[in-house]
Amino acid sequence: MGSLLEVKDYSITYHNKVLAVNKASFDLKAGEVLSVVGESGSGKSTLIRGVLGLLSSGGKVKEGKVIFDGKDLTSLSPKELQKLRGHDIAMIFQDAGQAMDPIKTVRKQFMEYTLTHQDISVKEAEELAHSWLARLHLYDPERVMDSYPFELSGGMKQRVAIAMAMAQSPRLLLADEPTSALDVTVQAQVVYELERLAKIYQTAIIIVTHNMGVASYLADHIAVMRNGVIEEYGSKDQVIFHPRSDYTKMLLEAVPKLKRMQKDSAGVTTEAGQLLKINEVDKVFQGRRKKEVHAVDNVSFDMLEGECLGIVGES
Ligand code: ADP
Repeated sequence: MGSLLEVKDYSITYHNKVLAVNKASFDLKAGEVLSVVGESGSGKSTLIRGVLGLLSSGGKVKEGKVIFDGKDLTSLSPKELQKLRGHDIAMIFQDAGQAMDPIKTVRKQFMEYTLTHQDISVKEAEELAHSWLARLHLYDPERVMDSYPFELSGGMKQRVAIAMAMAQSPRLLLADEPTSALDVTVQAQVVYELERLAKIYQTAIIIVTHNMGVASYLADHIAVMRNGVIEEYGSKDQVIFHPRSDYTKMLLEAVPKLKRMQKDSAGVTTEAGQLLKINEVDKVFQGRRKKEVHAVDNVSFDMLEGECLGIVGES
């Protein structure tokens, strides 16, 4: 099978000064996932925004080619690129939820977007919207559909934006830190849906993430960027288990070693004395219309001297 996307010697500058991407090359087949990692400022966003012609002001392609399905995207007019957006190539921005139109309900935006990109009936578009909102843990899709963006939390808006992009089952999906602002459980669901999109719809995905766990879980290939250069590029196994560059080794070293930490803390347990005992604690707030909200419900735990307790959960 040929490549869906081929990027060759691709360089991007800002204001003809900053070389934000320097001779990047990679390719991607249908259904493949490329994770792009690297410290902030290394050029990751610029690289994927460039693919879709969405560089911010001052950004310019200096050299190279971006071949999508046989067409060189760098030679297309803004109008021709616009035609590819949505159904062929979709993008999820880090702050996509913030970019929603504030004066239209989710229903209006979702329907307009879907009916522009897909040849389906209004009823089918409604069903598609419902099913994608539910898949992204928006448990009351009808309420969400009837809401204006300001009536939803930041995380909910982000999920709506992700659902809108995914519902088009694009051939190529570019995702720029799509999960950074989300709770861990929702993050896991988004990662699961990305994986399904690649497997079931053969969507090729480029995901920019600073989360090495997400990067390695999803990826077929990983590109490590530094100072605009793809410093290391290879299969997931090669990059994770046999990294060649010192920079990649350093990034991998920075990932917490959960197993080792568990063992260390087990060692502490036997030596330290008990410092705090929390026993069956409740906290109830008097909510609106005399409805009680159980904020804390029968919680118990002990803490030892020198221990560190992490508390996790959805917001
Ligand atoms: P990353 O996504 O890895 O955090 P970016 O692609 O956002 O990195 O940035 C790469 C480089 O390009 C950085 O040096 C950044 O300062 C510069 N840059 C990004 N956007 C602009 C812009 N609009 N104008 C000038 N420089 C920019």
